[in-house]
Amino acid sequence: MTDHQASFEPIKDMSERLRDWHKVAGRHDLPWQHQGPYATWVSEIMLQQTQVSVVIPYYLRFMEAFPTIKTLAAAPQDRVLAHWAGLGYYARARHLHHAAKQVMAEFGGTIPQTLDALVSLKGIGRSTAGAIQSLGWKRHGVIQDGNVRRVLARLHAIEGDLLSTRVQSALWRLAETYTPTDGDDAAVHTQAIMDLGALLCTRHAPKCAACPLQRDCQALKDGRTHLLPTPKKTIAKPTIEWFVLGLRNSEGALWCSRRPERGIWGGLYCPPTGASLHTLLTECGLSVDIEWNEGPTLSHAFSHFSVYLRYVDILVADFELSGPGAWITPEAYDIGLPAPIKRLVGWD
Ligand code: SF4
Repeated sequence: MTDHQASFEPIKDMSERLRDWHKVAGRHDLPWQHQGPYATWVSEIMLQQTQVSVVIPYYLRFMEAFPTIKTLAAAPQDRVLAHWAGLGYYARARHLHHAAKQVMAEFGGTIPQTLDALVSLKGIGRSTAGAIQSLGWKRHGVIQDGNVRRVLARLHAIEGDLLSTRVQSALWRLAETYTPTDGDDAAVHTQAIMDLGALLCTRHAPKCAACPLQRDCQALKDGRTHLLPTPKKTIAKPTIEWFVLGLRNSEGALWCSRRPERGIWGGLYCPPTGASLHTLLTECGLSVDIEWNEGPTLSHAFSHFSVYLRYVDILVADFELSGPGAWITPEAYDIGLPAPIKRLVGWD
């Protein structure tokens, strides 16, 4: 950090410019805006690692199915996961569901307003709590999502890994300094700085000429907007091959079992899937010589590796199978199947 990071003389002026810009150029029609703390919470969890345009249809379907915290808490987990299927990072959905139950049991069904109480809920960190406070409850609350981090890092020419403890604490200090204490102003500021990061201060080619903070921006003054935030070291992702055993009965149902909560597609239903076709067949009690047809293939990227999925189509009689599992039909919408599997079996 450099000296100018500690001087905040023009903060009020900057805040006002940011809010003026937001009034005319910010996002005002996102479906979760001005809908209260539950809507803010659901949207913030969905938006972790996922873009707004992807989230919107999932959010709308989710809120139609679980319009209140009470309906979410009372829903079976399978149904919650079914509405999350395709968004990925399923621990988010399981934690949201768990936290909804916590709110019912510990807070009388009302989402709490204080930072301490909010972060006691499963899956809610400091930034999500700040968003619920400011955007949901219209009270002072500070956020630091990816967009905000990028804006602040450029504004103050902060170098280094944005998620390191040193940089994180510097960014939190700045975020707290910039966030107005008044609740309504904090709500506008929070939305404005998120929108600035999403619309102007983008990762590549930021639109500095239109930015209300250009005269304050150290990265722009230094001609280093393309170098900040410090790019993450890229690590090549390995690709592995998985077979997906498409065991179908005479009625077209697919043999699936629930995946363990921890790990890939945690808690979703899935056909037997793994690296060894021999092992998958044996685990289902089938002969390794059984007749099978090579089905479609699909590549799918997870955060740390990519997988090449090979669908193996086998028609079996119900009595032939052993091991845990159930026959699932495409009509079983309350059962969440991973999105790539749905595509592979033609059920999407
Ligand atoms: S001037 Fe450019 S780099 Fe600086 S905050 Fe604005 S958009 Fe981001």
